[in-house]
Amino acid sequence: MSTTTLEKPKRKTTKPFIPDLIYFEPAALDYPKGKRIHEWAEKEQIPIRITTSHNRITNLPGDTELEKYRNAKRTLVVGLRKTLKFDTSKPSAEYAIPISTGCMGHCHYCYLQTTLGAKPYVRIYVNTDDILEAAQGYIDERVPEITRFEAACTSDPVGIEHITGSLQDLITFMGKQEHGRLRFVTKYHHVEPLLNLEHNLHTRVRFSVNADYVIKNFEPGTSSFEERIEGASKIAKAGYPLGFIIAPIIWHEGWEQGYGELMEKLAEQVQVQDDTDLTFELIQHRFTKTAKRVIEQRYPKTKLEMDEAKRKYKWGRWGQGKYVYPDEQAEALRMFITEQIFLHFPDARIEYFT
Ligand code: SF4
Repeated sequence: MSTTTLEKPKRKTTKPFIPDLIYFEPAALDYPKGKRIHEWAEKEQIPIRITTSHNRITNLPGDTELEKYRNAKRTLVVGLRKTLKFDTSKPSAEYAIPISTGCMGHCHYCYLQTTLGAKPYVRIYVNTDDILEAAQGYIDERVPEITRFEAACTSDPVGIEHITGSLQDLITFMGKQEHGRLRFVTKYHHVEPLLNLEHNLHTRVRFSVNADYVIKNFEPGTSSFEERIEGASKIAKAGYPLGFIIAPIIWHEGWEQGYGELMEKLAEQVQVQDDTDLTFELIQHRFTKTAKRVIEQRYPKTKLEMDEAKRKYKWGRWGQGKYVYPDEQAEALRMFITEQIFLHFPDARIEYFT
């Protein structure tokens, strides 16, 4: 009799991010969070350097631009947030709350490629009290309206939470605010530090998910789909309002099957008690001419389709326009994904398609 058993394929485990190098602004060490991160870096035996400003890191290791870019993504810079004027963050929130800038992920399409330009390293800010005081000002200004803050506009804060603890501070703060709400999105599953906080339903955690083709080809350096779903189930169990962002929605061969399977897998695997407070946000892929140039330099083998001739040009408010899908394609994507969402989660809410 055969004793052979079918072995399950080994699942990938995405470990929490440990930088190769850490810079500190001297003033950051006057703050408890800065001190704590410094002690952690010493314990982890990560090389430490001092910099006069988190905006000027010029001597990163690497012989070529590409090597420098890759090393920058593995470099953490700990400093103070000096600009406490928050950017707006439509359509997902009123304001972007700045706790970190930059990300260790390597998503080919990421808009940080262009917005961060020559500074792709990961910056975190330790003067959290100043940031929260500014948030309080924005909340007070708008009372009795609710003010929503997006914490993931310029980074993926969950991926660095084990180092910063900043989301824990923000979630606890917003839990006590009658008129303040927090939201953030992630591609990482390291949510453990967030599970026992008094969030008071004031923080919505969203996971970025996508068709298999998109995750496999364009999202290196992030948690796998299965890991993200496990993270989402834990977040739902901890009572947080939960959401999914499907972004970027990419037109590819077999896209209907890909997005259909995505919704099936979500319905099967994510453990939500009831979907009346489940939200979806849908964002189609877009690129600018500058982004295309940068992406082609940094990921020269990318399969990301960025052919201007196949796209519709959308004029931008600040000058440079974007290339989106032509109306017919955008509409087909919107219709199909919307139908699939309501098929599997009839009570969920789609916040926007853009
Ligand atoms: S995880 Fe998010 S922030 Fe990080 S590279 Fe990917 S898209 Fe950009």
